[in-house]
Amino acid sequence: MTRSPVWHPFTQHGLGEPIPLIARAEGASLYTAQGDRIVDAISSWWVTTHGHAYPPIARAIAEQAGRLDQLIFAGWTHQPAQDVAQGLVSITGLPYAFFSDSGSTCVEVALKMALGHWRHLGQGQGQRQRIAVMQHSYHGDTIGAMSIGERGVYNAAYEPLLFAVDTVPFPHAGAEQATYDALERFCAGDDAAAFIVEPLVLGAGGMLFYPPAVLAEMARICAVHGVLFIADEVMTGWGRIGTMLACDQAGVRPDILCLAKGITGGALPLAVTMASEAIYESHYAPDRSKTFFHSSSYTANAIACAAAVANLGVWRDEPVQARIDTLAARQAAGAAMLAKVDGVENVRQCGTILALDYRVPQGGYLSGLQPRLLAFFRERGLLIRPLGNTAYLMPPYSITQEDLTRCHHALAEAVELLA
Ligand code: PMP
Repeated sequence: MTRSPVWHPFTQHGLGEPIPLIARAEGASLYTAQGDRIVDAISSWWVTTHGHAYPPIARAIAEQAGRLDQLIFAGWTHQPAQDVAQGLVSITGLPYAFFSDSGSTCVEVALKMALGHWRHLGQGQGQRQRIAVMQHSYHGDTIGAMSIGERGVYNAAYEPLLFAVDTVPFPHAGAEQATYDALERFCAGDDAAAFIVEPLVLGAGGMLFYPPAVLAEMARICAVHGVLFIADEVMTGWGRIGTMLACDQAGVRPDILCLAKGITGGALPLAVTMASEAIYESHYAPDRSKTFFHSSSYTANAIACAAAVANLGVWRDEPVQARIDTLAARQAAGAAMLAKVDGVENVRQCGTILALDYRVPQGGYLSGLQPRLLAFFRERGLLIRPLGNTAYLMPPYSITQEDLTRCHHALAEAVELLA
């Protein structure tokens, strides 16, 4: 058999796994060229919010593509970008929007903004160059984003490229004080620049949840010390965990906020880093050396921005919150059923996300169970991609009750692989 020239991400081609070819998608359904239907229970890596090929977003993309496709964004602008930025200012309460193209890049931008902020402030603040992160975090796969993520098998080879960070422990229930103490110690140092965290749910780190009060307390500690608080809502944003933003549940307004994935409803790559007045102000000067030196060719691509404008329209005009509430309630019911299944542990639900761990002697990302689970779900026409022995559902909000129930049952039946 000839090999495809396509080298897929996070895919070990040497295992000879089949790679299904998808020809079409609609709602929570993917269709192969042969017409087989697969339920996309993970929103194609957490991006698709309302559903695939969502008509108002698809239409906006087509119209924009015929009007203005792409424009250099250094020193030029277009209406879709202005409209997205305005919309995001009212959603986030942060006054400035800097565009980029992916979750990883909006995180890189956040880190650069933080260090640039302290350097440009001067008055001895330039030594604030250290970043603190939370244990088990994931912020992306570019070099800077990897540096602030959990170290493991997936970045071991690149270790020489990564910069050092301070790590606060994950706030396990009952052990939150250890997190606060570590954050206090970091913030007390005169080299502390920023703390970056995934609010309420650590996604790729294993769908680990912590409560809003902990988020609020971490933000408070940073504020007391004047250390920048960066919220990475790349996954949690756009309703995934029940509210538009995870920070909303804790009443927290970060200094810098990272948004991507669902910003276009999941149709096109676009990201944004929202910044506070103070961050923008420290870069604002007649001095060109204080310019924010970050760009890429497709910054604020006009078609992607038009998709984001359409997505904001969907949020404004359609009962999105009611759909999220319905899905969350169905996931809660599924979680209650799964909690009774022998072989399943730590069943948890947060907004539209349901996660659980399969009881295995050796867990972790390279758990031998993972490829077997993947195949088990695939055989049942379900796209569920476990993280090691942790399986989760994070479907588009338009998934039907019937499809969701199928997913819940498949999660339960998969314990047969543990025998
Ligand atoms: N931050 C978080 C919290 C994420 O979950 C992800 C991706 N899963 C990223 C950043 C990176 O986003 P991207 O894959 O779009 O670069």
